[in-house]
Amino acid sequence: MVIPLAEAESLTFKCYYHPDRFAPRRCGLCGRLICVSCTVLHTSGPVCALCYMRKVLLEEARLRIRLSAIEAGAR
Ligand SMILES: [Zn+2]
Ligand SMILES: [Zn+2]
Repeated sequence: MVIPLAEAESLTFKCYYHPDRFAPRRCGLCGRLICVSCTVLHTSGPVCALCYMRKVLLEEARLRIRLSAIEAGAR
């Protein structure tokens, strides 16, 4: 079976997390196609919710380590 071009094109723009949704953007970190509800506008550009969570959690963890190191050094 040959898939019509328009259909094939629309298939390439499906959200990675929602196969039934149109994905106009691409995550700046993992490169996956993401729909509007999956897009989080980070300071570095649009990223998917998963990457955003990972990035934010990682940054928070790093910050906490840095702060605890400063506190330990001040003592
Ligand atoms: Zn991502
Ligand atoms: Zn989505």
